[in-house]
Amino acid sequence: MREAIPATRSSVRPRSPIRPAMAEDLAESLFTCSCCYDLLVEPTTLMCGHSFCRICLARWYLESSKRECPECRQVYLGVPKVNIVLRSTIEKLFTEKADERLQDLHSDPSSMQKMADFEKRLLSAENAKPASPPRNSLAFIKGILFTFLSLGVSY
Ligand SMILES: [Zn+2]
Ligand SMILES: [Zn+2]
Repeated sequence: MREAIPATRSSVRPRSPIRPAMAEDLAESLFTCSCCYDLLVEPTTLMCGHSFCRICLARWYLESSKRECPECRQVYLGVPKVNIVLRSTIEKLFTEKADERLQDLHSDPSSMQKMADFEKRLLSAENAKPASPPRNSLAFIKGILFTFLSLGVSY
């Protein structure tokens, strides 16, 4: 009875309940852009915490002219930066695919142009809002002060 131990026992190792293929699927789904349903490339994280490919975000902004998250519609401020930690994690986990995605992106001039336009427009929108009204009102106040001073001098 005792010698009925199967010889294959050592080859069966129920150590990890998640098979490598499943783990890979799971990991990939975590790093998938919800705009293009592909592996994130130049991942850019917004204030709400959602991350998208930079190009997907650029397309979304250029089409809608709205500074909002494509997923939850929360408005973001400034020029969102590429999430460096996320990018290097993706590069480490999916070296080949990440490389392929990056090369595809960089070899497409219209995408590169869109990303540049996106940043330019965000920057100019950013500068136009807070910078111009105070500058104008300061000039206005200076003008009033000057008028008062010159009035004061002449009287
Ligand atoms: Zn994307
Ligand atoms: Zn969001």
